[in-house]
Formats: sequence, C-alpha cells, structure tokens
Amino acid sequence: MKVAPTPKRAVKFFSGEDIPLELHKVRVVQKLNLVPVERRLAAIQEAGFNTFQLGTKDVYLDMLTDSGTNAMSDNQTAAMLQADDAYAGSQSFYRLQSAVEEVFGKKYLLPAHQGRACENILSQTFVKPDSVVPMNYHFTTTLAHIDRNGGKIVEILTDDALQVKSVNPFKGNIDINKLKALIAKHGTAKIPFIRMEASTNLIGGQPFSIANMREVRKIADEHKIMLILDASLIGENAYFVKQREDEFKDSSISVILREMCDLADIVYFSARKVSSSRGGGICTNRKEYFDQMKNLVVLYEGFLTYGGISVREIESMAVGLRETTDENVISQSPSFIEYLVRKLEEYGIPVVTPAGGLGCHVDAMNFLPHVEQKDYPAGALAAAFFIASGARGMERGTVSSVRDANGNDVMADAELLRLAFPRRVFTLSQTQYVADRLNWLYQNRGLIGGIHFVEEPPVLRFFNGRLAANSDWPQKLAAKFRQDFGDSL
Ligand SMILES: *Cc1c(COP(=O)(O)O)cnc(C)c1O
Repeated sequence: MKVAPTPKRAVKFFSGEDIPLELHKVRVVQKLNLVPVERRLAAIQEAGFNTFQLGTKDVYLDMLTDSGTNAMSDNQTAAMLQADDAYAGSQSFYRLQSAVEEVFGKKYLLPAHQGRACENILSQTFVKPDSVVPMNYHFTTTLAHIDRNGGKIVEILTDDALQVKSVNPFKGNIDINKLKALIAKHGTAKIPFIRMEASTNLIGGQPFSIANMREVRKIADEHKIMLILDASLIGENAYFVKQREDEFKDSSISVILREMCDLADIVYFSARKVSSSRGGGICTNRKEYFDQMKNLVVLYEGFLTYGGISVREIESMAVGLRETTDENVISQSPSFIEYLVRKLEEYGIPVVTPAGGLGCHVDAMNFLPHVEQKDYPAGALAAAFFIASGARGMERGTVSSVRDANGNDVMADAELLRLAFPRRVFTLSQTQYVADRLNWLYQNRGLIGGIHFVEEPPVLRFFNGRLAANSDWPQKLAAKFRQDFGDSL
C-alpha cells in the first residue's frame, strides 16, 4: 500500500516545526462574535440541535461548508467593477469563456447558476429511464438529478475508500475491475457516461490519481462511453496529485488541471467552490454536446451569455479560475486541513486520514463509542462541538440520510462531523483553537449523549429538521466548560 507522503511546504521554519504559512494578507475583515457558553447552549437548543438552523450572530467560526463562503481576492473584486451588463453578448461572458479555455482547455462553455443546475442539464440530456451511471462516489445533488431522470448510480470506489483510517493517497480512485464488470453486466447502451468527481466530496474530499483517470479513459474509449468530470473541487485534486503522484511532482498546477480536463469529454463545475462565490458551468470541445444542451440552458438558466449568473460574478469566476492554477492560492485550505488532522491525531482524536480537501472529518462513531448509531452520534458531536467552541460544523451521517420505505432509519456508511475550511478564510490561530476545543471535548466525551428527531421533514431532513437531546447532557457539558474555563469565553 502506498502511503500519502507528508506535504512539501513552500516555506520551511528554522525551528523545524511544520507550520503552513499564509501566503496572502488580509485587507478586508469581518468581525466575528464569540458568545459565552451559556448563549451557545441556548442557541443550539433554539436551533433544534441542527447546525443548519443556527444564525451566524451566534457562530464564531463558520465551518458548515465551503460553498459560497470562500475569500475573494483583490483582483476578483476589482474585476467585478468592470462587469459588462448586457442580456446578450456581454464582454464579461467572453472573458469567462477565455479563462475556461485557458485553464480547462475547453472551447464551448454553457453557463449555469450553480453546480446542481449543470447536473440538471446534463441529466436531462443524457440520462434515460434505466440508465446506469458509474462513478467514484455520488454527491447529493448529482444523485437526485440522475434519479429524477429515471437513472441509477453505481459507486465503484476502491475497497478501502470508506475506511476512516487509511494510508491510501487516492481514496477517490475508481476500481477498474469493478468498472469492467459493470460494463460487462449492463452493456454499453445503458451507460450514458462515466462520472469522476474531483476530490470526492462526501467521502472526505479525497482525490483520484491521474494514472487512475487515464485507465478509466482507456476503458471509456474501448467501449465508446463518455467521461464526465465534476470539477467543483478540482483545484484540491490537482494539488494532491502534485503532492502524492510521483509523475507530477515537478508539474505546475495548470499542467495538472489540463491533464485531468483533457481526459474528460465534458467538464462541469460549481463556481461556488472552484473559483468564486456563485455560478457554475459546463464545458466541452465537442460541438454536438454543446448543441444538445444549449436549449436547456436557455430554458432553465437564461441566455447563453449569462446563464442565471450576475455579470459581476462572471467576472470574479474568470479571475478565480485563473487563480486556481496558483499553487500558493490552492494549497492554503488543504494545508490547514492537514495541520488540523495532524494535531487531532496527536491528541488521539479519531479523524479521517489521509487529510483531504474541503474539510477535516472527525469520526463520531469512535469519538462517542457509547452513543449508539440510532442516537445520531455525528449530530450529537456537531451540537456538542458548537457548545464547546462556537464553531459550527456539519453532520454527515445518519441524520443526513433518508428513511426506507418502512419508515426505518438507514444507518449511514460513516458518522462524520465535517469541519469545512472555506478557502483562505481562517487563520492558523483559529485552526489551533478548533484543535484545542476538540481536545477538551474529547477529554469530556463521556458527558455527551444522543439526540432524537422532534420534527422530521420527509425530504432532505437534515436541512430543516429539529432534534432534541435524549437527556440533560448539553447542560452538564456547558456547566463543565464553565468549571474548566472560568470566565473565559
Ligand atoms: C457543491 C457540489 C455540487 C453542487 O454544486 P452547487 O453549486 O452547490 O449546486 C456538485 N458536485 C460537487 C462535487 C460539489 O461539491
């Protein structure tokens, strides 16, 4: 088994300490509130033990998601002022088109208001009833759109991809034998495309290797199946390829990005993640695919030169896409995540390894072995962590799944507390604070109990559902915090 190597830092410390250094300065700041533990306890109760329901006035570090919450660069905000407002033929769109061609190497661009809108158009165009779509792993919205068009997804990850502790540097790889078997079983006619997701979001931001993507491409060619790349988290995947795949250790991020995109027939992305704070797009070099999809863009998104995105956002997308090729820009979030994962491992806290992109994933099942899965350990940990720190993460476990036809809970593959790192938003001391409060919580984990639903929407219950504690454990946890920390926040 290959081991994920320790990342190479751009700047080494004389002391020998391995510290990720920020290679940007902060010029616009936003004040944060760190409210006392008593208010944090009240806030999480008001929020029904669901971090989606917290208001940011009570949140110190917002680690819910990286979607639409990344820091903007000076060049992005400057470009926004030059936006060309026009329904049709906006120069802002042409600037985005040339950035897409330069970075992703694709000539034809269809703009869409966000990533799931691209998935709607792709699924309506290519997915038919009974279609089977193989992929490394699904994303929630991808699954929903393919399902809505009558298709089903099949996940063909390597066997150890779902193991929490691993040294596999490329947990996002497709298992080539499973892909061959799947094609043999269903036949090519049923498979409209193979989908590869860069930095596989739901399994912890885990990358695939270019060697693996090349093998997938080879099979796709043999069987004349299209290969679609979800590039929403492509910058991080490129960064990990450079860090972990020997062939690319001296390549620039732009060369790696092009290598990945060149292997795909169609590339789509959520610009909320990859380059800006809103927007998305589908791009290809095949005119026939562009023609097949363009009328749906006009129907659902808007005219072909804005696609439901404001021209200001289009300008910031263009600049942000080019900035994704800058290693100093793209390395910040994965290197902070890796730093946090390393700290948590030092404290003996169970966490997904190797460190991925997007966020740090704490393993709630092993953090709280005394809380049964039916009592939602990841949801309980998210609430407890908010009480302890004022930082909010996201439950990625059974609360985020759906009940079966008989109304029984379907236990998730893993119970994770995800702590997202929006790009270039947090500082190192804030990261150290997160590690410190998690360490305190781990020392006091015996105090944490389970939670249960009191209001449960039938669809996507994790967004709007309300839960309550199974006992007075939250009060006891807050009291212990006050006892240990005195009058400190
Ligand atoms: C966020 C995301 C999407 C959906 O994008 P939205 O802009 O939120 O609609 C699709 N795929 C991946 C991998 C994502 O991370």
